[in-house]
Amino acid sequence: MVEISVVVPVFDEEESLRELHARLTEVLEGMGRTYEIVYVDDGSGDASLDILREIYETDRRVKLVGFRRRYGKSAALCVGFDEADGGIIITIDADLQDDPAEIPRLVAKLEEGYDLVSGWKKKRNDPVSKTLPSKFFNFMVAAATGLNLHDINCGLKAYRRAVTDHIKVYGQLHRFLPVFAHKAGFKVGELAVVHHPRLHGRTKYGIGRFLHGSLDLLTVILITGYTGSPLHFFGSIGIGFTAGGFVINCYLLYLKISDGNIHGRTPLLMLGVLLMLLGFQLVSTGLLAELITRMGHEGGKEYSLRLRLSHGDAGETGNAGTS
Ligand code: UDP
Ligand code: MG
Repeated sequence: MVEISVVVPVFDEEESLRELHARLTEVLEGMGRTYEIVYVDDGSGDASLDILREIYETDRRVKLVGFRRRYGKSAALCVGFDEADGGIIITIDADLQDDPAEIPRLVAKLEEGYDLVSGWKKKRNDPVSKTLPSKFFNFMVAAATGLNLHDINCGLKAYRRAVTDHIKVYGQLHRFLPVFAHKAGFKVGELAVVHHPRLHGRTKYGIGRFLHGSLDLLTVILITGYTGSPLHFFGSIGIGFTAGGFVINCYLLYLKISDGNIHGRTPLLMLGVLLMLLGFQLVSTGLLAELITRMGHEGGKEYSLRLRLSHGDAGETGNAGTS
């Protein structure tokens, strides 16, 4: 068991790795705590894995995992969290844009009583094409989830073990880890960190990240807000639609009976029928979603516990700072 685990996802970062390792080592040794560095190679096509192997051979505090192909940053973090033994887990990008020198401040902030501290690239060194959409995205996330962070997608973050144990990352949802933590009742904080321009290699995400990010936001809203009862979500919209369509059609029926014809009202009739059909569809989608969640929860739902006491078998969950 070590005190601090640093998890580094790596995809094609051959020029940065040696310097990164040297700087991480310097900072972590300076902290005077036990630590390990977990490198997860995400199926790099360049020399990254060979360099990581070299680093592994020379440093006993290094763990190395390598994917056979590229699975993405979320997958790399997920495996890294599983490998990590530390009570505190730090994630940092491998491209030297995040500064290892910020780690002691992140840890100090975490120990002020947070479960997750997210870096905030306050003065960001990236092109406008990246920073502007990112601002908008962060605003949307804050509005939709109630978690007010300036910068959800910072590579540099600190977690207590209880958080990484509780939350499973998949798809591209690593960006939303703070949201999941917040929704599970963990205390999430933010700390401004320095951010450097990318010196070597290039970004692994194109403009597609914002489209995918927005779709992922929908997923996050659904799973954090409605997994308990998806029918409430789909059902309420569905019933609204059906009711609207029903009122329209009743009105047309009334006209038909009183006037004898509804000529010229075809668009309205179509709207009424369409709304009713859409409404039924949505309600049935909700019912299906409800069935699926029910099946997923057959083994019992996972709740995030702060404490579990019982005479004879007392134990607190490792989630200090929130008691
Ligand atoms: N990364 C990864 N797999 C991927 C994409 C990225 O492991 O499919 C790693 C990458 O090597 C870097 C970090 O995730 O360490 C952040 O990637 P990048 O710097 O390209 O993102 P940006 O800074 O542009 O947000
Ligand atoms: Mg980067």
